[in-house]
Amino acid sequence: HKEIEELKSLIRDVPDFPKPGIVFKDITPLLHKPWAFQKVIDYIGNRYIGAGVEIVAGIESRGFILASALAYKIGAGLAIIRKPGKLPYKTVSASYTLEYGQDTIEIHEDAITKGTKVVLIDDVLATGGTMSAAIDLVEKLGGNIVSVDFLLELTFLGGRKRILEKGYPVFSLIKF
Ligand code: 5GP
Repeated sequence: HKEIEELKSLIRDVPDFPKPGIVFKDITPLLHKPWAFQKVIDYIGNRYIGAGVEIVAGIESRGFILASALAYKIGAGLAIIRKPGKLPYKTVSASYTLEYGQDTIEIHEDAITKGTKVVLIDDVLATGGTMSAAIDLVEKLGGNIVSVDFLLELTFLGGRKRILEKGYPVFSLIKF
């Protein structure tokens, strides 16, 4: 699709970020373009017309950018999943392993109630570790996950399989 290719061309490769040997996919050139950000949210959001999604849950921090615009577009509430110690109220947390060490994310315990229809979104699907932990959080609160969405997917890292194994559909607008 020509428009998707145009959006893809707005993703910038930044070598050796955040550390040597890693090529970071920088989404900011896409965000800077007036029509591009709108197109992204329209493409993702139009899939939910009439779907009754109640909450869009976004992962800190680039996930927030997409989650808030998507929640606005489809008229859903917004739930934020954050790094430890950032949320003021009572939280539930989930930990996941990184290349070196561990990381934790949290959500307010009242962000999602049992049976709520939830869409999870983040900017990039890499190994899927972050999103798997986010899925665990939503499951702990009894949310009903409708779809797990990303702006872009690094297919060679196999994150999709990890999410599919948890039993949820995966959607990514741009694939590398
Ligand atoms: P994963 O847990 O799937 O390995 O990594 C995904 C998480 O790391 C996402 O929250 C994403 O924001 C961040 N991430 C990993 N690699 C990249 C990248 O190349 N570009 C951007 N923008 N984020 C990345």
